Amino acid sequence: LGSARTLWELVERRAALTPHRPVLLQDERVLTFGELRTRAERTAAGLYAKGVRPGTVVAWQLPTRIETVLLTVALARLGAVQSPVIPFYRDREVGFALRESRAAYFAVPGEWRGFDHTAMARRAGARGVFEAYASLPDGDPSALPAPPASGTDVRWIYWTSGTTSDPKGVLHTDRSLIAGGSCLAHALRLSEDDIGSIAFPFAHIGGPDYLVMLLLYGFPAVLFEKFALPEALEEYRRHGVTIAGGSTAFYAMFLAEQRKRPGRKLIPTLRLLAGGGAPKPPELHRAVVREMDCVLTHGYGMTEVPMITMGSPDDSEDDLVRTEGRPPAGMEIRIVDGEVRLRGEAVCQGYLDPAATAAAFDADGFLITGDLGRLTGSGHLVLTGRAKDVIIRKGENISAKEIEDLLHGHPAVGDVAVVGLPDEARGERVCAVVERAPGVTDPTLADITAFLRGTGLAPHKLPEQLEVVDTLPRNEALRKVLKYKLRETYA
Ligand code: ATP
Ligand code: MG
Repeated sequence: LGSARTLWELVERRAALTPHRPVLLQDERVLTFGELRTRAERTAAGLYAKGVRPGTVVAWQLPTRIETVLLTVALARLGAVQSPVIPFYRDREVGFALRESRAAYFAVPGEWRGFDHTAMARRAGARGVFEAYASLPDGDPSALPAPPASGTDVRWIYWTSGTTSDPKGVLHTDRSLIAGGSCLAHALRLSEDDIGSIAFPFAHIGGPDYLVMLLLYGFPAVLFEKFALPEALEEYRRHGVTIAGGSTAFYAMFLAEQRKRPGRKLIPTLRLLAGGGAPKPPELHRAVVREMDCVLTHGYGMTEVPMITMGSPDDSEDDLVRTEGRPPAGMEIRIVDGEVRLRGEAVCQGYLDPAATAAAFDADGFLITGDLGRLTGSGHLVLTGRAKDVIIRKGENISAKEIEDLLHGHPAVGDVAVVGLPDEARGERVCAVVERAPGVTDPTLADITAFLRGTGLAPHKLPEQLEVVDTLPRNEALRKVLKYKLRETYA
């Protein structure tokens, strides 16, 4: 299976191997690998009848559902170029994505969670709008042209989170997504007896990555269209989920639930919590492992390279806590001036904007990530922050992450983001924005200063401004803190 060149080839091979095994579980519905193949092919025929051809750009904004996975596979079967958009995005982001990708078709859920996506599509001037929530286009597969032969054409346009600037359209091929999924599968030490779960938006680059993993190993995943604890726990238990996860926010959510019932394992069958995509406080990691009785593996990925490094159950506890794991075979990591650079099959082809592509790769073809890190003696990657997340105060570089990590240890701090704000006297000044922990009195600047002094932090790194908020601004997809918003607000 590992030698499949295209996603469709992978689907066909898996369907031939284990047609009756389930691949997707949602509510009371079960889809087998065989059905994935035959139903996606019918959907591809329906899309073809609508006018979708190999290379046609089809954007879709759909929640995490069996139909969405079928649509993705159908588009891959046709060799169309698909551009997934997170369901939470609204006029601004959707208009942007449709304009930039020049989508000829736009698949929407219609009315979803009280919001009319069809009306929004019209407002955005979308072309070829069709609904793909409850049912999908359908047609006779004998009318279809041959599936794509090559996995190296651009067939995916993904959108970055827009944490540092406007989102960028990232160009991927079937080959880069298969490479990312293989890496994930390898690190996690999977078996066909595992039961996975997709609780993050399937429209995120992690979606096809996860699907590749299911296809390679032949096990199913439970899909969550709407994820809410504690109801979701019932689903985990009912299906006997062995692998759960998502972003760092998930670990904290699970841990809070576990603490309501100490001594009784929250998800009895769970062996692995796997996630990544955001910094993970070490104390949180240790608490999860101790109290939830499972392994936690955390990884480093970006829209440009879905899976860069991943912790493995084979790693030592210390490496799992302190590092983002190791890169898979075929992923080259170079650290240049403290910044991570990458080359390998899982790396994207570039961006929609050719100027951005030119600026993103160095002379040796390595992608410049904008992330700071170092490699340990055993080849594990430690991330130390973002290049753009460095605060430069009186000419001294200060890592926002270092201060954040320390402040996570303060009892009144629920979450925290440290940003640099423009300052006439110092260039930038250090500002800490604290999300208050429940049921405590607000910390003052004097409190946190005393606390940080107690850790032995250099005085020039001490925050000069403190803001206490109910909730930090986060993006919907991954709950990442939007630092540029904080800078705008408090500058
Ligand atoms: P934009 O590129 O539009 O500014 P973004 O970089 O946040 O947004 P994504 O591609 O969703 O968009 O996020 C990738 C980034 O997330 C990485 O470059 C890195 O900074 C961060 N990240 C990913 N995994 C981890 C991790 N394990 N620990 C810390 N940060 C991580
Ligand atoms: Mg980025």
